[in-house]
Amino acid sequence: MPDQDPVIRRTTSMEQRVDAIQAALDERGMKATEAVEELNHLATEQWVPQNGARVVARAWVDAAFRERLLANGRAAVEELGLFMPKHHRHLVVLENTPTVQNVICCTLCSCTAFTIIGLPPDWYKDFEYRSRVVRESRTVLREMGLELAPEVEIRVWDTTADTRYMVLPMQPPETMGWPEEKLVGIVTRDAMIGVARL
Ligand code: FE
Repeated sequence: MPDQDPVIRRTTSMEQRVDAIQAALDERGMKATEAVEELNHLATEQWVPQNGARVVARAWVDAAFRERLLANGRAAVEELGLFMPKHHRHLVVLENTPTVQNVICCTLCSCTAFTIIGLPPDWYKDFEYRSRVVRESRTVLREMGLELAPEVEIRVWDTTADTRYMVLPMQPPETMGWPEEKLVGIVTRDAMIGVARL
């Protein structure tokens, strides 16, 4: 028996392979390193859940904006200076009510409206979450700390390449009348994914 699979022996680490591809692209003037740095910057500085929090807070204080948001999410977030990549053709905003809890997932991979609600957390990309949330959503939510009354209907929405979702959480009653800027601070990424209530 050979001591090691020859294919495995020839394969270097992920980091080395990434570096090699990057170097090969850079050598050809394709500026891979620059593109990676730019993406890193966008991901950590601009594609943050606070964008979505601003959208939610505005919807809470401005009924007309809320209507526009529910009718055409993509157009409404642009009013706040937020943008979505061209291939995110639709932003569907799902309104929670006392009897409806919306939850989003991507059963295929990890798609989210990431420019609005931030990049997906690790658990969202996990096979466990993707496969179980559609089959036993109530149990999965309970395991994540969200215990819903039996009369609350759970609607699970599976993201596609061109249709992205965000959940519009209910405004906690004790925050009624708060200024918009203060409301922004209470909206969490998990509430916009639908695995938490505020
Ligand atoms: Fe995906």
